[in-house]
Amino acid sequence: MDNKNTSSNFIRDIVIEDLKSSKVKEVVTRFPPEPNGYLHIGHAKAIVLNFELADEFGGRTNLRFDDTNPTKEDTEYIESIKEDVAWLGFKWDGLYFASDYFEEMYNRAVLLIKKNKAYVCDLSPEEIREYRGTLTQPGKESPYRNRSVEENLELFERMRRGEFKDGEKVLRAKIDMASPNMNMRDPVLYRICHASHHNTGDKWCIYPMYDFAHPIEDAIEGVTHSICTLEFEDHRPLYDWVIKECEMECQPQQIEFARLNLTNTVMSKRKLKQLVDAGFVDGWDDPRMPTISGLRRRGYTPEAIRKFCREIGVAKTNSTVDHRLLEHFIREDLIDKTPRTMAVLRPIKVVITNYPEDKEEIFEVDYNLDAPEMGKRPVPFSRELYIDRDDFMENPPKKYFRLYPGNEVRLKDAYIIKCNEVIKDDKGNVVELRCTYDPETRSGTGFTKRRVKGTIHWVSARHAVPAEFRLYEPLINDDAEGDSENFLEQVNPNSMEVLQGFMEPSMKDARPMDRFQLIRIGYFIVDNKYTTDEKIVLNRIVALRSSFKVKK
Ligand code: ATP
Ligand code: MG
Repeated sequence: MDNKNTSSNFIRDIVIEDLKSSKVKEVVTRFPPEPNGYLHIGHAKAIVLNFELADEFGGRTNLRFDDTNPTKEDTEYIESIKEDVAWLGFKWDGLYFASDYFEEMYNRAVLLIKKNKAYVCDLSPEEIREYRGTLTQPGKESPYRNRSVEENLELFERMRRGEFKDGEKVLRAKIDMASPNMNMRDPVLYRICHASHHNTGDKWCIYPMYDFAHPIEDAIEGVTHSICTLEFEDHRPLYDWVIKECEMECQPQQIEFARLNLTNTVMSKRKLKQLVDAGFVDGWDDPRMPTISGLRRRGYTPEAIRKFCREIGVAKTNSTVDHRLLEHFIREDLIDKTPRTMAVLRPIKVVITNYPEDKEEIFEVDYNLDAPEMGKRPVPFSRELYIDRDDFMENPPKKYFRLYPGNEVRLKDAYIIKCNEVIKDDKGNVVELRCTYDPETRSGTGFTKRRVKGTIHWVSARHAVPAEFRLYEPLINDDAEGDSENFLEQVNPNSMEVLQGFMEPSMKDARPMDRFQLIRIGYFIVDNKYTTDEKIVLNRIVALRSSFKVKK
């Protein structure tokens, strides 16, 4: 694979220290998504970090589905997550499901009860919240806190047998209702939920809470470094409490790092699901989505995503990364990998009046001058062409070097033409430009010393292949800055522009997921959802340039 991340970060330093002091013999990490949606670019950061860290020190990384929440999870998500991790270029050592540990977790909960470290509580969810107190006020003890061990054992078993309704009872840890850390105020360990689970079916009607389940999952798998995002920093004492009181043999260490936030993006499966469900996008893999599947359909490469994830680094404070940094890495990755061809997205016809009607020339032009091994393609030239509307102005401002009445431009890899006449329809729209060409000015022949300031792209009308082009802008308007709750109001209504244009004939056999650099327009990929035998649809991956400056 490409260059690994051997630049230092504080988690890597901890790992090196732990190996040196023999605290751990082998580094074991895991990537533990909840299968309640598709993975996004934030997950890619966690994936790259976990897999590359273990890999660097000859360790192992598991893919573990944290499937403890039956109502939100689905096998569709499981399949997509596996596909995305593999596509990003990573091979997991073990593939596990938290739900496979339910029996073990239940037994550990029974152990807690026997040690008088957990109790069944009948308070309602609202009452539990009330009793918890606030940051400035200690909580109140539940009236059920001092139930006997025997009674708790019996009630917990009856919870498991399904004798109670959802919300009627919970199992709570018995820690400290006055702890300054709210997470330690007798947190809920188990709740009742009569719902079918994608893996265990109807076997269970009680489900462990994240804070109880996660440390046990890690410990069962022998995870040494359990890396999670900063919101869990305050949960660490509870993580350690569970490991200790449940008497787990392995003692994983939880380490928190800053999650990735991107400008003009929401990044939480819950919110992304809302965008899908409300129809703002055509699915989780819409090319505007920050999901891995969206980025894939948009034309991103795993290499570009991995490089981006390494470059943003691993920090202890949250920040928001400019989404244009991600674009920088795909541009950099595609520059010498992609054939360069011509297409016209907003066509306007050009007639070369001094070019014979029945004549045609075929120019042999390099696919990519920087990568001559890609070979050449035939580019036909004839009397009628299309150019882009943007490359013509009837009344241009100063320093406009493209086509206007009386001006000359070079047609890329062809001739210099001059615009002599502008034809309009009844409504005054420009429909055709009458031009003449100078036969002495063929590109690459060395005959001509004549230079003009502008070069524009074009397609021979007779040979042009119709195609649809989709141009994208960020899905979320700028002022949204990260993950605000009213993001649905900030959805950009102009995030996609669909254009019907033409491409040069060398592209007519393009297949879904083929990439091109369309000269002067940007990098494009053939869409794998809407392309048919009749029509090719291309998504713009990214424009060629950006005003964004990358700090080196
Ligand atoms: P979401 O809110 O998008 O569902 P999550 O954290 O609940 O995110 P999980 O499926 O639990 O999603 O995440 C699996 C792993 O990915 C966790 O270890 C989590 O810390 C990490 N992760 C999730 N989002 C980000 C992010 N934006 N940046 C870095 N890591 C992330
Ligand atoms: Mg989540």
